Amino acid sequence: MKKLKLATVWLDGCSGCHMSLLDLDGAIIPIVRKVDIVYGPLVDAQEFPEDVDVTLLEGAISTQEDVEKLQQIRSRTKLLVSLGDCAVTGNVSGMRNGIPVNKLLQQIYVDGADLGGCIPGDGLPQLAKQARPAQDFVKVDICLPGCPPPNKVIAGFLNNLLDGRKPETNAKVKFG
Ligand code: SF4
Repeated sequence: MKKLKLATVWLDGCSGCHMSLLDLDGAIIPIVRKVDIVYGPLVDAQEFPEDVDVTLLEGAISTQEDVEKLQQIRSRTKLLVSLGDCAVTGNVSGMRNGIPVNKLLQQIYVDGADLGGCIPGDGLPQLAKQARPAQDFVKVDICLPGCPPPNKVIAGFLNNLLDGRKPETNAKVKFG
């Protein structure tokens, strides 16, 4: 049987959504037998591959680099899933949105430093004015809200998909 090609992506999030995925414990075994994890922090792929069946996206979109990566992911993914409130609404990543970026960096890296503070610069992606949800930039097929989405919700979603059932989301998930 052909395995489902699954990618996971970690943009501007805390990794808690990936932790919830890993927290499936034993329930992850029948799932990983039916999927190839082709990209993400759980594997060592350097480039996002073509023809991905499902991508689970964690985190908000906070830099131009994130936007370009998201557009590439969208163009190479059949089913794009926003995993967690940061991807769905901006959530925690968006808490900075009312503060100008220069002021934010100054407060964190200089005013907040115990000694020798400086704003990181060269080679790092520049923060956009706001952290925004994925659907502001590309079509998102399914949202799995939660901070993080509970492991049972992620397992239920993946099992429905793998068994050919229409993924059910709204009945079992909530924000926060
Ligand atoms: S939704 Fe919550 S758990 Fe997931 S990346 Fe955002 S802050 Fe972390």
